[in-house]
Amino acid sequence: MTDKLTPNGIVQDEPLLWEKGRKGKTGFSMPRTEIGPSDLDSNLIRKDLDLPDLSEVDVIRHYTRLSQWNFALDAGSYPLGSCTMKYNPKINDKLAGLAGFTESHPLLRSNQTQGILRIMYELEQLLCEITGMEAVSLQPAAGAHGELAGMLIFSAYHRNKNSKRNKILIPDTAHGTNPASAALCGFKSVPIRSGDDGILHPEQVRELMDEETAGIMITNPNTLGLFEENIEEIARIVHEKDGLVYADGANMNAIMGIVKPGQIGVDVMHLNLHKTFSTPHGGGGPGAGPVCVKSQLEPFLPVPRIRKDDDTYSLESDYSLSIGKLHAFFGNVGVLIRAYAYIMTMSSEGLKKASQLAVLNANYIKAGLQETYYLPFDKTCMHECVFSDKDLKEKGITTLDVAKRLMDYGVHPPTIYFPLIVNGALMIEPTETESKEDLDRMIAVFKKIAEEESADPELLHSAPRNCKRKRLDEVTAARKPCLTGC
Ligand SMILES: *Cc1c(COP(=O)(O)O)cnc(C)c1O
Repeated sequence: MTDKLTPNGIVQDEPLLWEKGRKGKTGFSMPRTEIGPSDLDSNLIRKDLDLPDLSEVDVIRHYTRLSQWNFALDAGSYPLGSCTMKYNPKINDKLAGLAGFTESHPLLRSNQTQGILRIMYELEQLLCEITGMEAVSLQPAAGAHGELAGMLIFSAYHRNKNSKRNKILIPDTAHGTNPASAALCGFKSVPIRSGDDGILHPEQVRELMDEETAGIMITNPNTLGLFEENIEEIARIVHEKDGLVYADGANMNAIMGIVKPGQIGVDVMHLNLHKTFSTPHGGGGPGAGPVCVKSQLEPFLPVPRIRKDDDTYSLESDYSLSIGKLHAFFGNVGVLIRAYAYIMTMSSEGLKKASQLAVLNANYIKAGLQETYYLPFDKTCMHECVFSDKDLKEKGITTLDVAKRLMDYGVHPPTIYFPLIVNGALMIEPTETESKEDLDRMIAVFKKIAEEESADPELLHSAPRNCKRKRLDEVTAARKPCLTGC
């Protein structure tokens, strides 16, 4: 690619590193050595390695420019529903980067890793305290991985009782990963319809719960951003038939210090440390999805478990009923340290305040936009609110147009067309770390976009206009992605 000398502001065109390289450039300097060269075995020498020659400045500018084509939480509001894209304090990254952590190898003996083992042990205790659950494994590497662990535990529990159960109840307001995790463990998911008020009703569960059903998987708060108020009664119905209750706790950000799932009938749940507990995410990992259980299910947790005897910590794998190992070594430790640092620096009052503000902010957005955008479930929401394009359609505006145009204003689009039970959904989760000024700006931008159609319809239909890439053909972009600057 040649430089077209177009005035693009600070977003610069950037060629591939191979196009940028010039023979003989170098990005390092070595001290003069007094040791002469020695001949390597010729089969150890790599030939024909097609790497460009680049200077340090070339490389730094290359990646910095590419990063400017992207959007980041550190650059602006990122209200991507169900993803909890909140600002993560840099101190947690700094602590996780301490040499004592980063230079410790998982194959070291446990007498050399007492510090890390202690942090992980204490983190398990803290997560028990926050959730009201009784035992935790930090191994799962993501929310969906935690769900898989949970479903394997359901399966092991029933197998251990010689009870054959092949179905699982999953509401239509559950996260999309839930039925997938259940299916991976051989369960057939039985959908339950939520009521007109957007939440589950006990009668529906009573009708479907039987002795071939392993239990229920509830996302709470659900994907409409609503709290499942009937969960205690639903849990009673499921327990009466010896089923288990799984709570998808990825949205714990809404209820920390307010509700303990362990006290309202939940047997197994996962948390998303990379959402609620301060690990930057969005680029595909690493994450952590600890699985938390009540004590009757503790024997089934993944191994190794962290054990504490007096003041000594060790890793223990000798649990005969365990579902086995889910991750190499003991999980994504860098993420676990961040979560530990976050919880310790926030304290219990801080976590409760974070949840209260997350809920307040979502309701502020809901109140601010409810006259402009259609609100299918008009009740107090938790951490997110869900609108749709129903009222905008007659003006010719779709959810996709709104999402694309938001980018022109420097706001990341919300989650769109999900949950599936709302046509043209716009699922907005502002999180607690947006200030009132940021929220007001976000509301103003959403409102302005809803008015733009009358001025110039193309503004919307061809958006984004101020981004590096304009409106892509979604299907081609997904099926034949071009990743080389074409
Ligand atoms: C994000 C999310 C998940 C999946 O978590 P991953 O870490 O992306 O696997 C599951 N359930 C809910 C409710 C979520 O919001």
